[in-house]
Amino acid sequence: MSIPKALTVAGSDSGGGAGIQADIKTFQELGVFGMSAITAITVQNTLGVQGVYPLPAAAAAEQMDAVGTDLGVDAVKTGMLFSADIIEAVAGRIADFGWRNVVVDPVMVAKGGARLLQQDAVDALKNKLLPLAAVVTPNIPEAEVLAGMAIRSMEERCEAAYRIAAYGPAMVVIKGGHDESSDKAVDLTFDGESFSTLEGSRIDTRHTHGTGCTFSAAIAAELAKGNPVNEAVRTAREFIQAAIENSLGIGGGSGPTNHWA
Ligand code: PLP
Repeated sequence: MSIPKALTVAGSDSGGGAGIQADIKTFQELGVFGMSAITAITVQNTLGVQGVYPLPAAAAAEQMDAVGTDLGVDAVKTGMLFSADIIEAVAGRIADFGWRNVVVDPVMVAKGGARLLQQDAVDALKNKLLPLAAVVTPNIPEAEVLAGMAIRSMEERCEAAYRIAAYGPAMVVIKGGHDESSDKAVDLTFDGESFSTLEGSRIDTRHTHGTGCTFSAAIAAELAKGNPVNEAVRTAREFIQAAIENSLGIGGGSGPTNHWA
């Protein structure tokens, strides 16, 4: 039996709502075999991140070697990479294996404020990893850092997408969840030629922990199945909308979304 296979290169969330755990659950729900290369362990629950223990860069690279040389990888998603060293090792392995279906979620800071990417690692993310990406999925604060500009309007969001595309990713998706000026959540996509928007209704809930992880993992799962990038992004948008609408409401803080929705 041939099953599509996806690899997540990301951090562990002990609370099970974000990171590696969200990615593997998403892969499974979308009918894709999930594998992982763990970059860091976070001590975390719905109340926030209480500790971050990064692994040596070699650990991420060797996990990628182990799965790449044996099981095979149809798509890769990167999440929390923490340091420039880890980013360089991960980008090197993606290039060496020639993996093309690469979704980069440029995770920087958790909702509670904990840093999941060191400040001096942003250059490596832009210059080493983005050139290898098929899709990059920043939220608005992440897009501001990558593009080096403030985003206060859709026009500025287009300009930021244009600047981020210059690093080389085939498709930029700037997620609109952080723009609270509208009752719609509008995601902007730019494929190097044209802009388009994907609209969903804004859901009034605090249970959005792991939303970005789940969205990018869903894109990777759809690419692993051989679907084109546009379609993968659209399917992932529907998946995350349902996951937020049916959030589980567990834990005392920002709870996980619902991957079975
Ligand atoms: N923890 C890990 C390990 C993650 O990879 C991510 C992803 O962005 C987060 C936490 C972020 O969680 P939140 O959605 O609560 O910001």
